[in-house]
Amino acid sequence: MTATLAFIGLGHMGGPMAANLVRAGHRVRGHDTTPEQLAAAETAGVEPAGSAARAVADADAVLTMLPAGRHVLDLYQDVLAAARPGTLFVDCSTIAVADARTAHARAAAAGMRMLDAPVSGGVVGAEAGTLTFMAGGGPDEFAEAEPLLAAMGRRSVHCGGPGAGQAAKICNNMILGISMIAVSEAFVLGESLGLTPQALYDVAATSSGQCWALTTNCPVPGPVPTSPANHDYRPGFAAPLMAKDLRLAADAARSGGVRTELGLCAAELYQAYAQGAGAEADFSGIVRDIRRRSGG
Ligand code: NAD
Repeated sequence: MTATLAFIGLGHMGGPMAANLVRAGHRVRGHDTTPEQLAAAETAGVEPAGSAARAVADADAVLTMLPAGRHVLDLYQDVLAAARPGTLFVDCSTIAVADARTAHARAAAAGMRMLDAPVSGGVVGAEAGTLTFMAGGGPDEFAEAEPLLAAMGRRSVHCGGPGAGQAAKICNNMILGISMIAVSEAFVLGESLGLTPQALYDVAATSSGQCWALTTNCPVPGPVPTSPANHDYRPGFAAPLMAKDLRLAADAARSGGVRTELGLCAAELYQAYAQGAGAEADFSGIVRDIRRRSGG
């Protein structure tokens, strides 16, 4: 069934996601505060609404893909009153679990329904329509959103109640950040012990060290031809986004009294890398930072 949708935040991710909804036959009315992003989305068939409030006014569902929690909460403040009662709000941005829960509460207080539905898969997945969505909210809201998510992604997992999608996202990315550092440290240690990267890869890829950071996004050039290491560490998944996700995980751990010591350490290492040489690099480029700090 085709729907009238509002899509707010048409950047690197939101632009192609909205384009896929247009391709699936939906009417998409969009808004972005950056005119260039709006113009790019327009060429893909998104109708510029003039303002976020106008975009949501006659929408069956409102999708958002914004930089951070404060953008989502500010936007909800502006538009909740403009939507039809009972409209489904689906926030796909990566934001703090606490902010997502606040957004759910505000939406409910305004008579709206909401799902937090952050994604993994990056810009490539957004363009190809192969994202994975992890959703938090009620089962009815998830069931209603599923066909929309299917137009933008390959898999959607209902993780639980409000904020559960964001919780799954930061827990998964904490595993990823820690494992990328572990794999990178192992390669640098191996090099210092005279091991070739290929030899270490051949052993670890078929042993208990096997993981996505090694076999899909291998941080050294050679063993996995498609990994960013073979393309001058062009992202892929940019280091500043990993730093952001690890910061969200660290904040959640601190406020919950959970001792995620490796997670906190990974957050610090990625923050330093993202503010320096990794500002525009794939997150696997942290191997170069580790090598440099090891005198290599
Ligand atoms: P982006 O900066 O390219 O896009 C965000 C867009 O929101 C911008 O175009 C900006 O102009 C717009 N915007 C900001 N405030 C607005 C407002 N009040 N009204 C309308 N538009 C507004 O960022 P992105 O890379 O598309 O990421 C968006 C979200 O997706 C972030 O939360 C990010 O963490 C998450 N994410 C990104 C990736 C990735 O690979 N880029 C992967 C997974 C998740």
